Amino acid sequence: MRKKLIAANWKMYKTSAEVTAFTSAFLPLVAANTRDEIVLAPPTIWLTQLHAELKGSNVSASAQTMDWHTEGAFTGETSPLMLKALGVKYVIIGHSERRQYFNETDETVNLKLKAAIAQGLTPIVCVGELLAEREAGKTADILRRQVTIALQNVAPAEAAKLVVAYEPVWAIGTGKTATPEIAEEAHKIIRTEIATALGLDVGAATRILYGGSVKPDNCPTLMACANIDGALVGGASLDPSSFAKIANYGA
Ligand code: PEP
Repeated sequence: MRKKLIAANWKMYKTSAEVTAFTSAFLPLVAANTRDEIVLAPPTIWLTQLHAELKGSNVSASAQTMDWHTEGAFTGETSPLMLKALGVKYVIIGHSERRQYFNETDETVNLKLKAAIAQGLTPIVCVGELLAEREAGKTADILRRQVTIALQNVAPAEAAKLVVAYEPVWAIGTGKTATPEIAEEAHKIIRTEIATALGLDVGAATRILYGGSVKPDNCPTLMACANIDGALVGGASLDPSSFAKIANYGA
């Protein structure tokens, strides 16, 4: 039984005061939710603040990205060791915006994934095809390549906490959601690829989230799919009441 994980990606939104306003409004709305794991990924500058504000609650903080080095002369970066020292347990890796604007590749995703695992963090690895790739019938090939390279030289025993997010790039921030059928088909491809790389047990245990214009109204149908184990939510996670409705879907 895979516990669903509902994660917010705030991207480069919210000031310090807005983070506090969000947690004050949001935490009471989800306090009774023991069914799911709920995670908020703020801009890095607010991670320490948010982590402190979430203390004692049923909600955890996540980084939106990190470097793969433990420490060093890498101006502007945050290391997995720093996240671990702070007590942050989750880190999003390889979000399509990082791939598109910050030169992240399948190879750097692999380096980051291994670095996260080495520090005991739970990586949320994003994969997904572009619209042109879907239209050219290449979706399965792209997903297989992204998953295979991300998992290179990862031992099955190390991958216990692995989370993968299927985020079709054409559905991110566009208001176009994958139909449950499209999402379920992609999730099955991803699960099979994880099983090929790491064995059937890891394939069956790995949570695969869907991301791409998830909203309170489309969330219940998506979450009802057998291979969808949660959601990674951008735009609709910025408002506490909207994200609480998503986290409490069906309740
Ligand atoms: C995301 O940024 O991961 C995302 C899924 O965004 P949105 O929900 O806005 O499509």
